[in-house]
Amino acid sequence: MNELLAQLVPVLYLLSAVLFILGLKGLTKVRSARRGNAIAALAMLIAVVATLVDLGAIDYRWILIGLVVGGAIGAVAALKVEMTAMPEMVALFNGSGGAASALVALAILWFDIVEPGTAGTPAEVLGGSNGLTAFLSILIGGVTFTGSVVAYLKLSGSLRGRPGWLAARNLINSSASVVAVGVGLYLTYGAGEPASVALWALVLAAIGLVFGVLLVLPIGGGDMPVVISLLNSLSGVAAAATGFVLDNNVLIISGALVGASGLILTQIMCRGMNRTLGHVLFADFGDEDLTGGDTEYTNVRSSSAEEAALVLEDAESVIFVPGYGLAVAQAQHTVRELADLLIARGASVNYAIHPVAGRMPGHMNVLLAEADVPYEQLKEMDRVNPDFKTTDVAIVVGANDVVNPAAETTPASPIYGMPILKVTDSRSIFMIKRSLSPGYAGIKNELFEHPHTRMIFGDAKQVLQELVDELKGLA
Ligand code: NDP
Repeated sequence: MNELLAQLVPVLYLLSAVLFILGLKGLTKVRSARRGNAIAALAMLIAVVATLVDLGAIDYRWILIGLVVGGAIGAVAALKVEMTAMPEMVALFNGSGGAASALVALAILWFDIVEPGTAGTPAEVLGGSNGLTAFLSILIGGVTFTGSVVAYLKLSGSLRGRPGWLAARNLINSSASVVAVGVGLYLTYGAGEPASVALWALVLAAIGLVFGVLLVLPIGGGDMPVVISLLNSLSGVAAAATGFVLDNNVLIISGALVGASGLILTQIMCRGMNRTLGHVLFADFGDEDLTGGDTEYTNVRSSSAEEAALVLEDAESVIFVPGYGLAVAQAQHTVRELADLLIARGASVNYAIHPVAGRMPGHMNVLLAEADVPYEQLKEMDRVNPDFKTTDVAIVVGANDVVNPAAETTPASPIYGMPILKVTDSRSIFMIKRSLSPGYAGIKNELFEHPHTRMIFGDAKQVLQELVDELKGLA
């Protein structure tokens, strides 16, 4: 590589790191999120080009094959995925990041030690810290991969509840961690022959893969948001570790950014559920029945859209509480249309955003931003909860767990302790959902029988459209 190009690479890496940071900053506000995403994509492009330049004369055929195959899979997946399946896709992306990091670290061990038959431990051949980070990269990457696959299966509903034997999960997980660290240290400092490096690297990868399953399988009862953000963070940590193995600064920086921001998100999600990370990961719920036992209702009152429209006609203040069902019904545009009609009639309208509503962090913000709901109308839980006392009508649209009073009243409930949106403080509550089915946590919701509540059964988009039509008819 000529001198000038060699000097350019670190400058391009620095530029890309700065752009990553600016991109992340843009992503913190709905208004600037698209721009933030574009800036981060540009940063990634610069990082990839700089790395190719840095590598110099390499065989581009493999890179092209990877680009075409990966690009095609990504494009088809992105075009075909339903908005409601986005959280599953994010889980798979996290998993792919982890798998890629582990595979790169394995490849380094293979090409630097095993294939050329180099004598010496990874710590000796790669350098002490690089040998150690190769071990961390394989382990954390493996955990992230299978953990994300299990999260994907849980989010898509293919896997539910927790198996009974997982009551002993803390014992199993702590033994697995001790074994993983032991094997990793032996691989780094003890395995001196190429054959034993290959063997112990594969054993370590296998332990990571099994550990990922063991870690995520027992988590349920609505605690999944914490897991999703933790896996996101782990994918960053694995990438940063791989950056050390490769001596690639931009990978270290971008991995650290993902790791740190994922950790901050994990903390926000924990706060949103009033859980500690330790509680989510290690608390033993035993093998309790996740359906929460009794799910019979005896005193449910329902209402038609016509009756609800008459109440809304006189409402001076309305709060919409969006949940996962809003995403399923793709009713974000219709809810905005109803809100606009109410505002035109002189009512004040806000949206109450629970941090874990939907199936991924920020799900409701993304959905409502798509319908151009003004940012000022979105109110986070802590800010909106006091407002319910002075609100005429709360309209719960496809939300369930985030308004379930069991979180406050039933210590045995799997969501006990999670702060909820206090819709019962408002004068009237309309709950739009298709049936009396439970939400993600699979438990009974006494709000259905609350004296202030009227259920409006039906698909959220259809019911909201009926409300719009009725209100227009009353004009
Ligand atoms: P819930 O899953 O509690 O409830 C959603 C409700 O939407 C269901 O009860 C369902 O009832 C209703 N629904 C589904 N489709 C429609 C439709 N077409 N029209 C109208 N209603 C519909 O959602 P919440 O948002 O209240 O709570 C989120 C839950 O997901 C929490 O337990 C949270 O912990 C968990 N979770 C959150 C993640 C995150 O990062 N935000 C990640 C993973 C899990 P019905 O079938 O009767 O219509």
